[in-house]
This record gives sequence, C-alpha cells and structure tokens, in this order.
Amino acid sequence: MRQVYLDYSATTPVKEEVVKEMLPYYTELYGNPSSLYGPGLTAKEGLDKARSQVAKLIGAQPKEIFFTSCGTEADNWVLEGVADALKSKGKHIITSRIEHHAVLHTCQYLEKQGFEVTYLEVDNEGFVDPQTLKDAIREDTILVSIMMINNEIGTLEPIKELASVAKERGVLFHTDAVQALGNVPIDVKELGVDFLSISAHKIYGPKGVGALYVKRGSRIANFMHGGAQESKKRAGTENTAGIIGFGKAAELAMENLQSHIEHCSGLRDYFWEQIQENIPDVQLNGSKDKRHPGNLNVSFDYIEGEAILLMLDGNGVSVSTGSACSSKSLAPSHVLEAIGVSITKMNGTVRFTVGDFTTKEDIDYTVDVLKQVVARLRELSPVTGQEGW
Ligand SMILES: *Cc1c(COP(=O)(O)O)cnc(C)c1O
Repeated sequence: MRQVYLDYSATTPVKEEVVKEMLPYYTELYGNPSSLYGPGLTAKEGLDKARSQVAKLIGAQPKEIFFTSCGTEADNWVLEGVADALKSKGKHIITSRIEHHAVLHTCQYLEKQGFEVTYLEVDNEGFVDPQTLKDAIREDTILVSIMMINNEIGTLEPIKELASVAKERGVLFHTDAVQALGNVPIDVKELGVDFLSISAHKIYGPKGVGALYVKRGSRIANFMHGGAQESKKRAGTENTAGIIGFGKAAELAMENLQSHIEHCSGLRDYFWEQIQENIPDVQLNGSKDKRHPGNLNVSFDYIEGEAILLMLDGNGVSVSTGSACSSKSLAPSHVLEAIGVSITKMNGTVRFTVGDFTTKEDIDYTVDVLKQVVARLRELSPVTGQEGW
C-alpha cells in the first residue's frame, strides 16, 4: 500500500544531509562544548556555526539566539521570563485565543501566579486586528504574544503591524514562529519583534531542539539555573548533535525557501481544486491567500474528522484533526471555535499539510481515497443532507 504523509505541521522527516552533519557529533566529536581542550573546542565551534546558521534564517545576530530543548520550552521561557523580569512594572499580558497550547497553557499557569491575561478575539479567518490589540494595551501591560502562523488553520498574522502597535506603547512583543520558520521569509529586524520562538523538527531537523530569539538588551529572566551555557540564560550541557542538525536544517531552509514555497503552495492549491471537484459540501477554514504554503484545513459536512482520519490511515494516508496535541482529546478545537466554525462542521474537520517530499501522485492517491472514504461515511451518517447543517 502507498504511504502518504500529509502532516508536515505536526513534524517533518529529518533530511539526509542533516543526519549526515549530526552523526559525527555523537561518535567522534563528542567533547563537551564547555571543556577547554581540543575536542571541547571543536564541539563549541560546531555550536557557533549552528548559531550563525539559525540566526541568518531569521535575520538575527548569532548572540541573539538561545538554544532550548524545543519550541514549547522557548514559549514557556519567554512568557515566564518576561513576567518574572517585569512583574514590578505590571502584571498584564496580552495574547490571542488561537495560540498554540505552549503559549495558552503557560498563560493559564501565569494567571494562577497572579498575572492577568487578555485573550484577543480573531475574525472568521483567524486574523488578529491591530486595532483590537491597541485597545487592549494598558498601563500595566508588559508583554504581547501573538503567533506568526497558526498551526491548525495556517493563517499568517500581520506581525509587523501588531509589533509596531506594541512598540508605540513601549510593550515587549513575542511571536511563536514555529510554523512560520522555513515557510515564509522571516526578518526579526523588519518585523520589529523582541522575542521569537522556533523549533528544528518542523523544518526537517531533529526533534528536541528549539531556540528563542532575544533581541539584544531585552529584559528576560534566566530559564534554567546551573552552568554558564547559552550566556548563562539557559544552563545545561547543550544537545550538540541536535543543535548541529538545527543549524544544517536552517541553512537548507534558507537556500530552498522560494522553491519550497512554490512546491508546497502549488501542490496545496491543486489538492484543494481536486477536493472541490470531487467532493461536495466541503469548506476551507482560514484565509485564502495569507496562509501557510502547505496547509489545508477542510470541514467535511455530515461526518466526523476522526472517522476520516482512521479510514485514511487504513489506506496509508496520515493526516490530523485539529492539532496533533489536541487530537487525542475530544474537546473541540479552540481555534475553530474562535473563528466561529459551527460545532457540526468542526467535528468534520481535517488538517492536511504537504511538504518537501509530497508529490502530485501522493495528492492524486489521497483524493481518490478521500472521495471514497467521505462517500462511505456519508452513506452511514444519519444526518446527511438534514437541516441545520
Ligand atoms: C509544534 C509547535 C510548537 C511546539 O514546538 P515543539 O518543538 O514541538 O515543542 C509550538 N508552537 C507551534 C505553533 C507549533 O506548531
């Protein structure tokens, strides 16, 4: 049976070139980067190179990149770290209703610590309006955190405009750019952000490595206490091989950015055309144009997304309902809820994400299977064609 992976927003395979760069750091170049003799210095040089490669992909200085254990850690760090550093100035944080749980659950944790959080509404395509942000900023606001690209519906937020609204009021601005990295051009200086979170495994690098961009001079408390790694801000012996892999993946993402965007958006648009031609009663969620190049989030009327997922899996096709983190729970997606998708459509929603290794044949096969799966499930559905849908 053909295997088709259409969940690149959940994670990506590690590219061969990346693995090749990483391997020697496990078996030969295993020195501790903090050690002062030859092998330690070699490992340190590897880290420095990776820091430059990652910095270049987002237009930052290498010194502004702090490696973490994942994107989730970067999000936790920035929210808790700014809260801690600026709590005497104010205790108000602003975010949106559609953030990744790495941000939302950290905000909930901070609420328990006595901070106040405003969750901005979004419109029906998932956009945060800069005016809404402007109205929400108060004297005691210390941080705004709005994601660059939403992981479920793929909406690309107007980060530059949002960051400038925060800046006008002297408030620090963070963006979770985990889904944006390698999928849209990113330049931290041009965007005007103070902090930005990224992760390696969403750009064909290894799992368990992320980074936080901290604009030079920005106030943030240290996250891990211990040794002097990462300029003492994030202690702990570095995941050298993983970081080397992140660096290589970043270099490849930089080189391939335009061709990657064209490849993905071409296949995605073809996929959506084919779905519309072959399957009735479908709806695309999110924005038509300001969107992640590989993302299609589709509601299929009358049926359950989980049933579609399982039947596609039975045919070798991997997709997700909602986001990978919430797909094991039955709670409706907080993102689809925020953009006003009705509960019935929400239940029939599937996220497809294409990537560098997706082919037109993969899409043709998937559409063929999907057509049969949806028809079969609709035959079984007691509500097919009923009022209220
Ligand atoms: C995947 C993801 C994260 C978490 O990154 P990890 O490295 O898996 O912890 C955070 N935010 C967004 C938007 C993501 O898509």
